[in-house]
Amino acid sequence: MITVEEAEQLIASRLEPLPSETVSIENAAERVLMESLQADRDLPPFNRSTFDGIALSYGAIEQGQRAFPIVGTGFAGSPKLELTDPKTCVEIMTGAPLPDNADCVVKIEDLDIENGSARIKDGVSLSIGYGVHPQASDSAKGRTLLERGCRLSAKELSVAASIGKAALVVSKQPRISILTTGDELVAVEASPLPHQIRRSNDLALQTALQAAGYTNVSRSHIVDDLEETQHAVTSVLKRADVLILAGGVSKGKRDFLPEALEAAGVDKAFQWISQRPGKPLWFGDCKRDGRRTYVFALPGNPVSCFTCLHRYVLPALDRLCGKRPGEARYAKLASEFQFKPPLTLFLPVLLSSDSSGQSWAEPLPFNTSGDYISVARTQGFIELPKDEINFAKGAPFPFTPWSI
Ligand code: AMP
Ligand code: MG
Repeated sequence: MITVEEAEQLIASRLEPLPSETVSIENAAERVLMESLQADRDLPPFNRSTFDGIALSYGAIEQGQRAFPIVGTGFAGSPKLELTDPKTCVEIMTGAPLPDNADCVVKIEDLDIENGSARIKDGVSLSIGYGVHPQASDSAKGRTLLERGCRLSAKELSVAASIGKAALVVSKQPRISILTTGDELVAVEASPLPHQIRRSNDLALQTALQAAGYTNVSRSHIVDDLEETQHAVTSVLKRADVLILAGGVSKGKRDFLPEALEAAGVDKAFQWISQRPGKPLWFGDCKRDGRRTYVFALPGNPVSCFTCLHRYVLPALDRLCGKRPGEARYAKLASEFQFKPPLTLFLPVLLSSDSSGQSWAEPLPFNTSGDYISVARTQGFIELPKDEINFAKGAPFPFTPWSI
């Protein structure tokens, strides 16, 4: 048996980043950016008004002037005006360019406007630059706004859109195939016989992958038969970048996967990790025609399967796509916990936060790694190290959220 850390390293050592492609910004959501993006102009590109009101020269206010004749109107989307006489003002709308020679905006709520003149109400205090969002104050032209390796969620896409990037270089979507195995497993809509089970792992895996941004996923199911398994694996290896198998990887008499994978030419990197759940996890890869397929065979127990996806497969996919790793998250154990076996424990938890902002992880009592009903109430798992038995209340541990 190898450790969790050794397994991670063995996976990382085999991964080769996927190539990049250019896609339209409309199709770039959740993809990993493979270029860095710079501001194409100053942001904001001009001194912009942050209020609806009047723009004027602060020097006039300093000299005691409170009422200003309105000599023009500046709209958002109209070219910049000029304040030629510092004793006058220009009506201005939020987002409009500040007129030349103006350096202060008084908001409409602070004014009485009558007969073409704007009077500043008593008690309103102003300063030079008030109500002005200065040119280049968010970013000067040329500054890097998005780094290579970031995932393009809504906020990153708004930055890309604002600097005119109609097309973006992103890493290719990995083609992922899910193959579930098991004679006992029937379709969702089936009426199972007493000894049969409706299959759920395939849908859980696909949904979690999609939520993490991996949308090119196909799935099928095979029975526990060596030849059929080998045949199915061989055909998937021709078209997938990543093959995720579930079930049939342990030591049962019909657990054919390790044999079928090796017969199909997949080079095993490891099997058996000192962890619970998910001890039988198998990983390898296969290189054909200069293209690699990475193969993860996850134990079929729903909790093991789901945990291994989050602990190993999703990080590996991120790495394949060149995504820069995010900050590790931690949560404190909400109650004392004991675990004797010398295994790393991935413990599903109910996460909560208190009024000081501290995250607490309450271990959920669950039956076995087949108890996916309990797990559905949790938000993720904490990782308890292998060589300890007693875990104190309040001790912090790494927390991995379920992909939602
Ligand atoms: P296995 O890893 O094939 O020995 O399966 C372990 C347990 O997980 C068995 O009880 C299976 O019925 C269950 N299982 C395996 N695959 C699935 C699946 N796709 N959906 C739900 N349960 C599964
Ligand atoms: Mg099975």
